[in-house]
Amino acid sequence: MGKRCSAGRKKMRMRAVVLERPGVLKMIDKDYPEIEDDEVLVKVCVCGICGSDLHAYNGASPDIQPPIVLGHEFTGVIVETGGSVQNLQVGERVCVNPLITCGQCFFCLIHQDNRCQKIGVLGCQIDGAFAEYVAVKAKRVYRLPSNVSCEEGALLEPLAVAVHAVRHTLRGMVNSAAVFGVGAVGNLVIQVLKNLNVPLIIAVDVLSWRLDLAKKMGATTVLNARHEDVVKKILALTNGLGADASFEVAGQRLALEQALEGTRKGGYIALIGLHEEENVPLPLATVTFKELSIIGNAVYDNTDFETALELLKTRKVNPTPLITHVFPLEEASKAFEVLTRRSEPAVKVLLRISQEG
Ligand SMILES: [Zn+2]
Ligand SMILES: [Zn+2]
Repeated sequence: MGKRCSAGRKKMRMRAVVLERPGVLKMIDKDYPEIEDDEVLVKVCVCGICGSDLHAYNGASPDIQPPIVLGHEFTGVIVETGGSVQNLQVGERVCVNPLITCGQCFFCLIHQDNRCQKIGVLGCQIDGAFAEYVAVKAKRVYRLPSNVSCEEGALLEPLAVAVHAVRHTLRGMVNSAAVFGVGAVGNLVIQVLKNLNVPLIIAVDVLSWRLDLAKKMGATTVLNARHEDVVKKILALTNGLGADASFEVAGQRLALEQALEGTRKGGYIALIGLHEEENVPLPLATVTFKELSIIGNAVYDNTDFETALELLKTRKVNPTPLITHVFPLEEASKAFEVLTRRSEPAVKVLLRISQEG
């Protein structure tokens, strides 16, 4: 039996937005979640919309099957704690690492949570935070520092993705990096690289307003792939060698090709973006003769999440310029349309689910 805060919720039903089938989001009324002994119940304040949510909305995600309540980038307030939860209190503002792991496999036992044999993500395989309440394991809950707002805290998860990709890809210091695709994660990669004092950070995108944003976030050079010969420019900026490392965040075949050409011999290419194309051709001879390391990156582990939290707390990363829209939960469909239609500049779109926090 949990320790309850009756002020947090009075009714036994809650509102949630379910992805019924691709392209169809519907507001529903459902039972609020029961918590286990090692869980807490979080009243959701803010939840971000991720690229992976968009893939699911577009019917292009192999890992997310509707009907499901999406949402894994969220902050909230604890309204109930399970019987065995010691270190968290009702009323605390928190953010949540949404990974679901088995805790028993080879990788879990060596603390590589992102490689768990049975890995899942809250809001991807089980109902997530486009809802008023979510039950989460206490060990995945982090207290939100008082100087971090619920909106900023909702960017902790994508920041952890960026932290992981940079840490996992770079073997030692680099002098130049190219980031292909500067949406939320691409821009957060730029901020992480800036914190590592990488002197040359090249942002590549096809939208000029996104490149303006990348400049604000710390890119030293921006290249518009629609108007410029990206590879030629990168080579010119790096004494004809190519960048030490490239981050492919766009999930586009062309960006991958440019990364392969624009990275120096012996350099690193981080794959972060999800390609909707099932099979993307890879020129293996280029990889072999240039001795490139192509490195896949999947989510983050606890250390990455903690590093991301520290970067927010110390204000070394400022995610606020990335937040372009905030909609109430009722307008979730509109929020997804803004991201899908791209009729106006949108980077990180958030849903404000409750006014608490
Ligand atoms: Zn995400
Ligand atoms: Zn496991």
